[in-house]
Amino acid sequence: MITDNHGRRINYLRLAVTDRCNLRCTYCMPAEGLNWLPRKELMTYEEMYRICSLFITMGVEKIRITGGEPLVRRDLVPFLHNLSEIDGLEELTLTTNGLLAGSFVSDFKKMGIKSVNLSLDTLDRDRFFRITRREGLDEVLATMHKLLENGIHVKINTVVMANQNTADIIPLVRLTERLPVSVRFIEEMPFNGGTHQVTLDWDHQHILEHIRAHFPAMEKIPDAAYSTSYNYHIPGHQGNVGIIAAYSRLFCGSCNRIRITSTGVLRTCLYETGSLNLKDAIREGCTDTELRNRITDTLFKRPKDGWEAQDTLVAQHREQESMAAIGG
Ligand code: SAM
Ligand code: SF4
Repeated sequence: MITDNHGRRINYLRLAVTDRCNLRCTYCMPAEGLNWLPRKELMTYEEMYRICSLFITMGVEKIRITGGEPLVRRDLVPFLHNLSEIDGLEELTLTTNGLLAGSFVSDFKKMGIKSVNLSLDTLDRDRFFRITRREGLDEVLATMHKLLENGIHVKINTVVMANQNTADIIPLVRLTERLPVSVRFIEEMPFNGGTHQVTLDWDHQHILEHIRAHFPAMEKIPDAAYSTSYNYHIPGHQGNVGIIAAYSRLFCGSCNRIRITSTGVLRTCLYETGSLNLKDAIREGCTDTELRNRITDTLFKRPKDGWEAQDTLVAQHREQESMAAIGG
């Protein structure tokens, strides 16, 4: 079991397998995309497998695969399958925009994936195009239904953006009436590759008040341990509603998660740049014991919270990063 310098247990790893994507969401990256990483800078599947196995021996129980869009990386599914067989891994899951995921739902089911996070910011076709700069709403909705039909829980991630999709909040909440989905509204964070300034007009309180005004009977329900979302239920609905104060950073005190970017950088907080590159350490020939020691040292320098961590971003002029490069 690993803990950080603030006594927080670390048991959740988010692994980015690529920075590339088949969408261009305005809140995540510029229209022209990013300066995509050359292949040799990405971790290989063998390197990722070794890193994941090592973290599992250190107490990680849950791994989320993310990116960029994880499913644009070739041969992801066999890699997921290999990960799913590692002893000690209790939960394997992924975050996807849903465009390609529909074809792999039966594979997910076979490998024991029980829940998938699906990004969906609007139910309106024109707004979907304006936000993602691509077509694809039908594919995302088809993926959502296929996941549900196969008994895989769906958490919908909706980034709330002033003047863009606030009209979608209530229609998305209404999805929970007939579908057993968790719709989670996320405060927009400033990780968009430098395309625009983010304001917190629609912070968690504003989102909550807006939903309550339409659904006054909505009740607070208990949040799972280490949950980043505050969760609610509307009587008579099948699903739940969550609000994630990602920019207000209300959940740092119990944060159990670490990230590894697609280049192998261990980020102990979303808001820090990271100082240990595990891919480079592997390529230098580090043994597992050496890797373990470097990881433990890094976790003992973990910032207290996202506010403290942000200083490293500012100091390195990297506050304009893209979420796809960090690994969302
Ligand atoms: N491509 C996949 C997807 O969109 O689900 C996985 C990677 S994406 C970077 C992971 C999550 O980060 C998505 O749910 C996305 O909505 C969220 N995200 C991206 N940029 C964000 C931002 N600036 N603020 C808040 N959430 C953001
Ligand atoms: Fe791609 Fe996900 Fe970023 Fe949208 S949020 S551009 S789908 S990586």
